[in-house]
Amino acid sequence: KKKIAVMTSGGDAPGMNPAVRAVVRAGIYYGCDVFAVYEGYTGLVEGGDLLKKMGWEDVRSYLSEGGTNIGTARCKEFRQREGRLTAAYNMVINGIDALIVCGGDGSLTGADLFRSEWPSLIEELVSSGKLTTKEVEPYKNLTIVGLVGSIDNDMSSTDATIGAFSSLERISEMVDYIDATAKSHSRAFVVEVMGRHCGWLGLMSGLSTGADFIFIPERPPKAGKWQDDLKKVCSRHRNKGKRKTTVIVAEGAIDDELNPITSEDVKKVLVDLGLDTRITTLGHVQRGGTAVAYDRMLATLQGVEAVRAVLETTPDTPSPMIGILENKIVRQPLVEAVKLTKSVADAIESKNFNKAMNLRDSSFEE
Ligand code: ATP
Repeated sequence: KKKIAVMTSGGDAPGMNPAVRAVVRAGIYYGCDVFAVYEGYTGLVEGGDLLKKMGWEDVRSYLSEGGTNIGTARCKEFRQREGRLTAAYNMVINGIDALIVCGGDGSLTGADLFRSEWPSLIEELVSSGKLTTKEVEPYKNLTIVGLVGSIDNDMSSTDATIGAFSSLERISEMVDYIDATAKSHSRAFVVEVMGRHCGWLGLMSGLSTGADFIFIPERPPKAGKWQDDLKKVCSRHRNKGKRKTTVIVAEGAIDDELNPITSEDVKKVLVDLGLDTRITTLGHVQRGGTAVAYDRMLATLQGVEAVRAVLETTPDTPSPMIGILENKIVRQPLVEAVKLTKSVADAIESKNFNKAMNLRDSSFEE
């Protein structure tokens, strides 16, 4: 009987629970045993109670619960070979040789590294006398499948990551609340949103709420000049009778000299314009709450596809990452997707902003 493990890793995202539910139930449906790995890679390294066989009922009500019930963590030990050796041992003694990881690019990179090292880890477990040749015989290869769980929508080769639309929904709702009070007092608000190197949440929430101005890392404004541009746009809108000003700042916002643009920087400019200005940093509410229907659907379809991929992937095929392109659930080579994602950050760092934007676009068009 095939034994599959599922884990959530890195930053939590709404929809991770529905993804785990889908993997557990699809796994059972296809005749597999499914284990939940608690606390991300820590669960693999520590083993024991952190590896739990899941029944159909264990994931009941997961669809409508936010966060991730099996926990997530950042695990330092797994970054070291020693940690991955212990993880391999724990998997083999539990009979597990397939792992579905729902996380961001870091988690998926770690998963693929684990897979490529697997034969040598197994060899070492035998040569050090921890396991016998007979014990490791059925576990010569590790199958890895990636599900992208991240509110940032920062992964290439997929149109949407699990959690991004829930986060966008939450941000838009919060900005609506802010707008109501802003309009009442005729105030300006600088709203800081998450997204690190990726401006998707900033851009799309700005679009969804009709923000006056948006700062995202992929389209940095001119250093020393953006202040005037911001003033011009906001005054123009005010002169047309608008009683509120909303500026969205992605947490990774920069100018074209790579200087960070902070909410405080933006506030100063608006105050200079004579506007009564407040800053709202949305923070972790952006991660919280239940997943919107889109993320539940995405997580469910992709979770089922991940189990199918486990059953169909051979040692010769690259590890797949489950994506969605033009409304179709697809398998993409995991390593390529991670590489493409990293190249966007590299392009920004080398001030090649057009390339960064094109790379983001091509990830949408591919
Ligand atoms: P988010 O996008 O929310 O930050 P992430 O998956 O990118 O999610 P990371 O903190 O980068 O988050 O990675 C989560 C965990 O994955 C790490 O704590 C570590 O255990 C493992 N990991 C990440 N990168 C590697 C790597 N290069 N080698 C081995 N393990 C890794």
